[in-house]
Amino acid sequence: MSPKPQQKSTPSAGGKNAPVAPKPTTPVVRALRGFRDQLPTEQQYWNHLRATADALATGYGFSWVDTPVLEETGLFSRAAGRQSDIVTKEMYTFTDVDGDTVALRPEFTPGVVRMYLEHGMGSIPQPVKMAYFGPLFRRERPQHGRHRQFYQFGVEVIGSAAPVVDAQLVALAYRFCEQAGLPPVSIQINSLGCAPCRAAFRTELVNYYKPKPRYLCGDCKKRLVKNPLRMLDCKHADCQPYIAGAPQILDWIDDACKKHFMAVVEYLDGMEIPYVLNPYLVRGLDYYTRTVFEIWPTADAVGATAALGGGGRYDDLVALLGGPVTAAAGFAIGLDRIVGMMKENAIVPPQSAAPRIFVAQIGEAAKIKALQLYERLRQEGFAVCENFSKDSLKSQLEFANRMHAHYAIIIGQKEVLDGTVLLRDMDAGVQEIIGMDKISGDLRRKLENGAAKAVAIADITPTPSNSPEKISSKPAKSRIEDSDKDPEHTDLDNETLLEGL
Ligand SMILES: [Zn+2]
Ligand SMILES: [Zn+2]
Repeated sequence: MSPKPQQKSTPSAGGKNAPVAPKPTTPVVRALRGFRDQLPTEQQYWNHLRATADALATGYGFSWVDTPVLEETGLFSRAAGRQSDIVTKEMYTFTDVDGDTVALRPEFTPGVVRMYLEHGMGSIPQPVKMAYFGPLFRRERPQHGRHRQFYQFGVEVIGSAAPVVDAQLVALAYRFCEQAGLPPVSIQINSLGCAPCRAAFRTELVNYYKPKPRYLCGDCKKRLVKNPLRMLDCKHADCQPYIAGAPQILDWIDDACKKHFMAVVEYLDGMEIPYVLNPYLVRGLDYYTRTVFEIWPTADAVGATAALGGGGRYDDLVALLGGPVTAAAGFAIGLDRIVGMMKENAIVPPQSAAPRIFVAQIGEAAKIKALQLYERLRQEGFAVCENFSKDSLKSQLEFANRMHAHYAIIIGQKEVLDGTVLLRDMDAGVQEIIGMDKISGDLRRKLENGAAKAVAIADITPTPSNSPEKISSKPAKSRIEDSDKDPEHTDLDNETLLEGL
């Protein structure tokens, strides 16, 4: 049997104490193309976005909801329009064993509207404000950081046609990006008018483009027949001169729609939310009416290539899905793109600064004491960590370093007999013997002193502790370097420790 191809090994320049790099193996079954894992190291970004979404949704009076990942295909094809890219190319749809045609949700809005109708939410005080956070599925070409399972935070306001709703949605989307810590974003906004306005404009647009199809890109040739509005946001170079000369929808919408849009932008001005009027913004879905908007990174942000999210009003969708005529609006933000932007712009989400206490043990008797102490400290609310499956003290302390533990409590045979522990300050490298029954009180005092010191330092160089940190020169300095710390440089090794025990 020939040997398997080896993964390229880590350079040995760092010697035996170099940090351990993960060695990938090819499993029998790999993740599907376009799908990916979210590793422990990613979680700080997602936790931060979840907390940001939670604070904002609550602050703006939304209730959290979730809908099934799997729904009848008809729900999405009715909502998005049979000609939309989502339905024709991207939806994961299949027939299950009962013969039902079902689909993995490619967007949230239709499911939320279905829920609103199915649970009689039209009879409770209106509007109903709902927020969601979760995975969606589209069979897109996995390129440019697009994933086939992707995540969105979004909100829907069902049961109000008031322009103030649209403005507050824009504000919420803007604040989300701001509080996530992104570089400034730009809101692009437009109105598509109501269905009759749009029909009139559509006719005008088709008349304008009809003599030109042979100069247009392949997509636009199809759009001219199927979805002419989308020709206005074509990015193909060939189509740009025609877009520039195309009729603008704002000239075609009726007085009521114009008045509605003017009110939206007036409220935005009032809230001092910056926006840009974009007469070519149409969004990809058939169900939008009146206000549509998109959130774009400003050009100076690294990786500013695609919209971060968008939304708008969909006054006809509730009726389209079988309900009474009910005005509604919403938006969704692509979280994978936000995480990508945060990484590309070296934005580090805030970390929980809980001091960690590592519990180490040497020998079987000590292991039992250590297990008991671990249980006790954890129940008392200390942030404890351990690696009890290691027997060598050196490996345990290496792990403590990697966990960024502030203190290590070490229990050996002598400590078991004496009813004491060895408390080591991991940063200062000093250790002391403490009675087992005094450990909680001593730790609490030390941590409080440490916190007081940290506050004093923060007073000199103020950084908002709960907002993400932008690191310009040395990304994620302290913690990564700490984790690489050679444990032998902590003037503590097996021998000296064992002597102390
Ligand atoms: Zn109208
Ligand atoms: Zn085109």
